[in-house]
Amino acid sequence: MSQAIAHVNGAWLPLADARVSVLDRGLLFADGVYEVLAAYGGRPFALDGHVRRLARSLREIAIRDPHTAAGWERLVQELVDRNGGGDLSVYLQVTRGTDVSRTAAFPEGARPTVIGFCQPLPPASPAALADGVAVVTRPDVRWGRCDIKSVGLLPNVMAIQHAREHGCNEALFVRGDRVTEGASSNVFAVLDGAVVTPPLSHEILPGVTREVLLRLLRADGQDVRERDLNLSELLHAQEIWLASTVREVLPVTRLDGEPAGGGRPGPRWKRAWELFQKEKKGLGAGG
Ligand code: PMP
Repeated sequence: MSQAIAHVNGAWLPLADARVSVLDRGLLFADGVYEVLAAYGGRPFALDGHVRRLARSLREIAIRDPHTAAGWERLVQELVDRNGGGDLSVYLQVTRGTDVSRTAAFPEGARPTVIGFCQPLPPASPAALADGVAVVTRPDVRWGRCDIKSVGLLPNVMAIQHAREHGCNEALFVRGDRVTEGASSNVFAVLDGAVVTPPLSHEILPGVTREVLLRLLRADGQDVRERDLNLSELLHAQEIWLASTVREVLPVTRLDGEPAGGGRPGPRWKRAWELFQKEKKGLGAGG
């Protein structure tokens, strides 16, 4: 990546010099939403899915969308181009804007703050693909609207830190006996030959990678079910996968310190991974 360039409210400047106000509501109240998407070879992947989810997140918390879908798509492409193309992750954030004081209620006439920047997107680690990754379960202590991609990420941050401290790639949130999703990924399991993933609800983020995978697996003729997934089922699953923009689709082979998901990356994961790689190369409709 060449010198990192950020976007702040229409201006372009070096990422290291990019600033927002201390009165920005994103900083004071986590009053904002975000997106992360991948670009491969300088071309954004599943862009329409990410732009649609961003518009929905904004609508759900009543922030005026500062761009049309086409405007967001142009902004993303310009971010990628100004950062030298190649394989990048693109970060977008919109907050309710900057107030003149710290007051919880929406300020009158505040202009949303828009920021964007890119980071290098490293390829999946060969060890993760060859051996799978470890995960640890954590109680899902998040709020009741996990479908909104809010910048209020403290429970996710704490869970991911716990995972790192225990040598794990990800933390899986568990609500009662149900596995909802990872701290930054959606979860899939292979149970009795069917691919199972929890259904969309207020409890999980509608992952764009999840959506792309569901489409690819169904087009491949596989038995795919969106239904609740219990921890007891997961412990005995034939395979477990994580799906996210940054991870793509990764096999899980350890759960809470014990072998899981068959203990080795399985054939169903391999097929899903191959389908996903083909989709990336075509940079098809995306979802
Ligand atoms: N769930 C959560 C909580 C996440 O933070 C993410 C990553 N954005 C995902 C799922 C996966 O979403 P996507 O495939 O759109 O990256």
